[in-house]
Amino acid sequence: MKVAVVGAGPAGALAALRLAGDGARVVVFDASHPREKPCGGGLTAKALRLLPAAPAGDPLPVRRLDRCRFDSGAGDSVEVALAQPVGIASRRALDAWLLRRAVEGGAVHVAERVTAVDAAGRVRTSAGRDETFDVVVGADGAGSLVRRTLLSPTPPGRLMMAAGWFARGDSEMVVRFAPELEGYLWLFPRPGHVGVGICSPLARVPTRRMIDRLESEVARAFPALVDEDAPRYAHTIPSPTADPRSLLEIAGDRWALIGDAAALADPITGEGIYYALRSAEVLADTLREDGSARRYPERALQAFGHELLKAAALHGRFYAPGFARRMVRFAARSRTVRRVLADLVLGEQGYGGLKHRLLRASPRFAVEYAASSVATH
Ligand SMILES: Cc1cc2nc3c(=O)[nH]c(=O)nc-3n(C[C@H](O)[C@H](O)[C@H](O)COP(=O)(O)OP(=O)(O)OC[C@H]3O[C@@H](n4cnc5c(N)ncnc54)[C@H](O)[C@@H]3O)c2cc1C
Repeated sequence: MKVAVVGAGPAGALAALRLAGDGARVVVFDASHPREKPCGGGLTAKALRLLPAAPAGDPLPVRRLDRCRFDSGAGDSVEVALAQPVGIASRRALDAWLLRRAVEGGAVHVAERVTAVDAAGRVRTSAGRDETFDVVVGADGAGSLVRRTLLSPTPPGRLMMAAGWFARGDSEMVVRFAPELEGYLWLFPRPGHVGVGICSPLARVPTRRMIDRLESEVARAFPALVDEDAPRYAHTIPSPTADPRSLLEIAGDRWALIGDAAALADPITGEGIYYALRSAEVLADTLREDGSARRYPERALQAFGHELLKAAALHGRFYAPGFARRMVRFAARSRTVRRVLADLVLGEQGYGGLKHRLLRASPRFAVEYAASSVATH
């Protein structure tokens, strides 16, 4: 099978590696490397587990952290020990590392931008290449040309906007909720610098106001990270809705979308790297077993899609006034809630089982909360 992968971010590079390993002839097109994608670069434990093993002499370029501070944005704050450490990476380093794995695994990297595709597998590039493939994989990110050509652009109501900068220095890892923006601010320390950012649904607030808000909060709470010389960026994060059709549309007979091109980020947290990697894996398995992408959307729905649909349905409740504040306040007093909060935001607790876990935890929570109330009086 001859496969064109358009885009060498995490989705495209992992798909290229897996497909080449299965014996396909894979060409991965991307002219952008080396480049720093606007991104927090946070890899949850479940995302780290999907990465290929690092060869001797080329270690995975991530900084591992086992603590995160959660801040309600209204004065409550708690530091949580993470049962599973997260990794924070510069996307310049991480994506280049993954692309090296794909090329070592047999994929051919062509450093050209794809300018046109069609549903019959034809791919044309900025350098004049014109070639037909058995399958075209759109792994070309949030503004995907493959998606725009073969499906339709992701509607604005399914986009989160995220903005920030990369500051010199170091910090602890911080997630600060901003319920009035239906989003949050983050400080993600990477090797050598700190990713500082903010996210909110695209239609919620103008991007300039988001950046102003981030700058004033950082100036007040973390002045060392203002870094006025660092260029500010803004970029969208696409997600599905609660309607399964928003996931079942992501492939045709000879094409398929993965990662941001398929709009697969978590609608609550914006976590997209895990879904980029997982969708690449599910697509590669489908192509290996079926020789066609036709059953890939259904398999993606079964493998991880129901979680995303659930997140889309829960979005309003998660960012309802008072929810984050209560979670952080309770977490400060109860180890049980601390674990739930960390697992939820860091991707280890599925939205599906959340209610059940909270119900099961409530007797323990009640005891811990009462004990902490006695201790503080
Ligand atoms: C500000 C911000 C912060 C974020 N923070 C996090 C985080 O901390 N953790 C997390 O899990 N997720 C985060 N995300 C989401 C995450 O960045 C994306 O979900 C993830 O990068 C998707 O990977 P991908 O491979 O699908 O697409 P991308 O990483 O966008 O890669 C797409 C690639 O396709 C290439 N391309 C585009 N068009 C063409 C073309 N025509 N021809 C050839 N190549 C093309 C691009 O150059 C790029 O290299 C964040 C997003 C933003 C915007």
